[in-house]
Amino acid sequence: MALIVQKYGGTSVADPDRMRAVAENIAFTKRHGNDVVVVPSAMGKSTDNLIKLANDVSKTQPGRELDMLITTGERISMALLCMALADLGIEAKSFTGSQAGIITDTVHTKAKILEVKGDRVREALADGKVCVVAGFQGISTDKEITSLGRGGSDTTAVALAAALNADACEIYTDVTGVFTADPRIVPQARKLVHVNFDEMLEMAGAGSKVLALRSVEFARNHNVPIHVRSAFTWEHGTWVTSQEPNMEDPIISGVVTDMSEAKVTVVAVPDRPGISAALFEPLAAANVNVDMIVQNTSHDGTTDISFTMPKADKGTAEAIVARWPPRSVPRGSSTMPTSPRSAWSVPA
Ligand code: ADP
Ligand code: ASP
Ligand code: MG
Repeated sequence: MALIVQKYGGTSVADPDRMRAVAENIAFTKRHGNDVVVVPSAMGKSTDNLIKLANDVSKTQPGRELDMLITTGERISMALLCMALADLGIEAKSFTGSQAGIITDTVHTKAKILEVKGDRVREALADGKVCVVAGFQGISTDKEITSLGRGGSDTTAVALAAALNADACEIYTDVTGVFTADPRIVPQARKLVHVNFDEMLEMAGAGSKVLALRSVEFARNHNVPIHVRSAFTWEHGTWVTSQEPNMEDPIISGVVTDMSEAKVTVVAVPDRPGISAALFEPLAAANVNVDMIVQNTSHDGTTDISFTMPKADKGTAEAIVARWPPRSVPRGSSTMPTSPRSAWSVPA
């Protein structure tokens, strides 16, 4: 008998019909002899709506109260799902994050999971029940309700799978798996049969929201295999595991965060050949090690240029950018640029 954790995203439980369809899949999994722990998200856009409501009521929104509010979406889902399961003759029991023993740090609205106790979940499983645990929430070491940051139900599911030593963690969503690009933006993107943790970390870190970044970090650290699949077609999706690529597969390395870099954006730069050389040559001459350069498409003959460089060289670079553009515009341009401005973004 396997223990399977199933997480259902907001679209998958968006309305009563979806809730019943999800209950059917849970019942199917249970009737095939598996123990099942379910982690539902809030229905549809209800977390967005709760945040909007808070914004409409208040400018202050203490983190504790905001977490009290936004964690309610998942509580609604867990109770309704248990009711839909009861209709199918499946005994299920719902638990808030706190009742499931998901202990977090004290940082409201983006708390980190420190420990999953899971005693009540284990007891209910031993009693033959399906356990439905509200996603996206826990209880802090100060005994306050916390939320785990947007998309945090993925993290709840993977953390529970790790703590309960589950055989698999299924993440049901509104696409059929992990694709080479967001299939909603790039329709010709290919579904990947398998992705390893490092590749998935790179994709999540770069902003692909199919899996929350922290859930992938958790899965890699605790070696939890994840199956990303559709709650609409139920077909096999993408496995995310520790399996290394074959010798001849392209190798993708992990994401490296470099907090020693600053990003500079120079706006309203005239879009003419040679103008950027007039910026980067003096920077190179002053030994400022420019790393990445991004130039946007031009609008009305001007563009923005962003580049990254060591934070330690900020003073030198600032002086050069302040003197730029040069008196003579490169390559015979006839007009002087409108005054470009620079913006500095330096990570703490
Ligand atoms: P859920 O509510 O089920 O958690 P999300 O909206 O958080 O769903 O994540 C699923 C979405 O992730 C998809 O609808 C898709 O638009 C987006 N997405 C971004 N990049 C990818 C990718 N590489 N592969 C699959 N989906 C992706
Ligand atoms: N409901 C939460 C959100 O919308 C958590 C989740 O869906 O994973 O961010
Ligand atoms: Mg999500």
